[in-house]
Amino acid sequence: MPEFPTIPESRVWRGSLADLFAKLVMRAAELGGRWAWYALPRGAIVSLRRVGAAGALELRIARGETPATPEGFRAWEIELGVFLRYFGGRDAWEPTTLEDPVLIGTGIAAAFRAKPVPAPPLATCSKCGVPVHDGGLYRDDLCTRCAMEAGEREAQARGHG
Ligand SMILES: [Zn+2]
Repeated sequence: MPEFPTIPESRVWRGSLADLFAKLVMRAAELGGRWAWYALPRGAIVSLRRVGAAGALELRIARGETPATPEGFRAWEIELGVFLRYFGGRDAWEPTTLEDPVLIGTGIAAAFRAKPVPAPPLATCSKCGVPVHDGGLYRDDLCTRCAMEAGEREAQARGHG
């Protein structure tokens, strides 16, 4: 049976999972691309880092032992789901490949990349008031529909309609 690496007490997380995520996000920001991580008393190691120019969050959940039975794998999948639920929701993450699996040793790990958060609307349409996500379509802040209508009216006014 492989030994789980000896974890210093300062790295053992005994708080809630929601607080763990907040702490990891904070630490990852401080560490500038290196992994922030904590171990849970029941054996999972949860790591988070920021990658790329945009600083997208990458999450890694690992255990020192690979499950030996189908039931064990199911429990592992359930455990992953619990973490994701507390870490912003399953929809907030997509699976990604582990870049440095050497750190896992004989254990098991899963990695996830935070999905890009849709940008908030830049403005609202000055005619009809709907949010405008892609500014610069037209001279004013107009939604696509109003911009097309305005364009058609202009074309008609110029005698091209
Ligand atoms: Zn509009």
